[in-house]
Amino acid sequence: MRTFPIFVSFEGKPPLVTGGGELAAVKTRLLLKRAPSVDVAAEHLVPELAKLAEAGLVALVPARPGIDQLRGRPLVIAATEDDEEDTRVSAIARALGVPVNVPDRPELCTFALPAIVDRGEVTVAIGTSAAAPVLAQRLRAWLERELHPRLDALAKLAGEFRSTVAERVPSGPPRRKFWEAVFEGAAAEAMLEGDEKKARGLIGTAIDEAAEAAPARGRVLLVGGGPGDPELLTMKAIRALKSADVILYDRLVGDGVLDHARREAELIPVGKAKGAHSMQQAEINALLVEHARAGKTVVRLKGGDPFIFGRGGEELDALRAEGIAVEIVPGVTAGIAAAASLQIPLTHRDVSHTVTFLSGHEAGGEDPSFEHLDLAALAAGKNTLLVYMGVSTAGVIAKKLLEAGFAPTLPVMAVENASRDDERRVLATIADLAASPERLGLKSPAVLIFGEVAGLPASGIVEDILALEEVKRRA
Ligand code: SAH
Repeated sequence: MRTFPIFVSFEGKPPLVTGGGELAAVKTRLLLKRAPSVDVAAEHLVPELAKLAEAGLVALVPARPGIDQLRGRPLVIAATEDDEEDTRVSAIARALGVPVNVPDRPELCTFALPAIVDRGEVTVAIGTSAAAPVLAQRLRAWLERELHPRLDALAKLAGEFRSTVAERVPSGPPRRKFWEAVFEGAAAEAMLEGDEKKARGLIGTAIDEAAEAAPARGRVLLVGGGPGDPELLTMKAIRALKSADVILYDRLVGDGVLDHARREAELIPVGKAKGAHSMQQAEINALLVEHARAGKTVVRLKGGDPFIFGRGGEELDALRAEGIAVEIVPGVTAGIAAAASLQIPLTHRDVSHTVTFLSGHEAGGEDPSFEHLDLAALAAGKNTLLVYMGVSTAGVIAKKLLEAGFAPTLPVMAVENASRDDERRVLATIADLAASPERLGLKSPAVLIFGEVAGLPASGIVEDILALEEVKRRA
């Protein structure tokens, strides 16, 4: 059963538990964490339930409840441990549209009970759609350790200030930023350490400051989203994504990365699939400016690093020219991720002393001329060339390198979709590549690593090795 998490209010009719045994007692105790009282339908009660009834927390109703008993309940847990009776209760509840749970009988349930981490006002519910209850328990244990025991007090304090803040701090980004500053700053720290007086003072001052502050000014963060694997995001990038009101993202950014965005954030795809329609750079710049002017926190999310063939520099210029605050969050660039995945060192005492980042296309999209480079000097030294956007021009690049004096046997490692599940690697020599680039069967995005380091033993599967004999002979 795939389920959707919600938090249920017990303000109206009490929830109903059927059964008076141990299982019913466990479920009743769970519900009483939030429900003011629970109705229990049973003839006999185990001592724990009897005690709760005495204390007025449990009201006994007749066993084998019918339609009238079930109607209007926020939820029902059928826990008589009598299959027939539980099935009957489940059927009535479902017919009435009352949410029902029968422990360990998913087919009779319309909702599942999560693993719960309880910090008073703050509740974390964990579900795994019944696929892995043990995983849910482990997550719960981990969260129990991670979540500060005084989180409840902090949430209550925030609750007390809520209406004052709503009155005095403008809604939208300024108010959200105010709360972010409270929860990430000294006020929260003081409260969690038990110094409530200090926390109150700090929040009071922060409200005064926020109320007086000039109308919110937007800003833009140029954020490197890394090569695709969300694990390669930086903490700063994650924080930026969580704070964004608007996110303009590239095609190369994976879904797992965008998962860190707030649900309310506006997500705008801006490009750039080769051949397919994508937004012009000028349009992107205009959008960035427009949203920042509206006082929003704008994240421009780019694949890899924003300043490696990402046109980050142009966006930076455009924003500076408009006087908009900009912040850069670096990312793991594709070439570095590819090298790490293969365990190929890009510099190496013995075989490579420099790394050159190259684009396989000219700015206008033409084949590369490499006029700006002293290729002969690179050919003579111990260098690594890291080529981006070079899939369709791989053959041309290899020919140019040969002409410039690179050894025909120099290894080239092509890495497609580095760091993603569908990563693919192919090893060849420059001569192979120049002669029949199509044999590599490369698809974009891929980086090409030219140099002796590309011939060092790689980690993992290298799918195709062209000119294997050649590479072996040299090793
Ligand atoms: N700013 C990006 C590069 C953008 S240019 C960065 O720092 O990585 C686009 C090129 O990046 C692609 O043509 C390809 O060469 C490379 N690229 C991006 N993601 C890649 C990936 N996961 N695997 C291999 N190459 C990738």
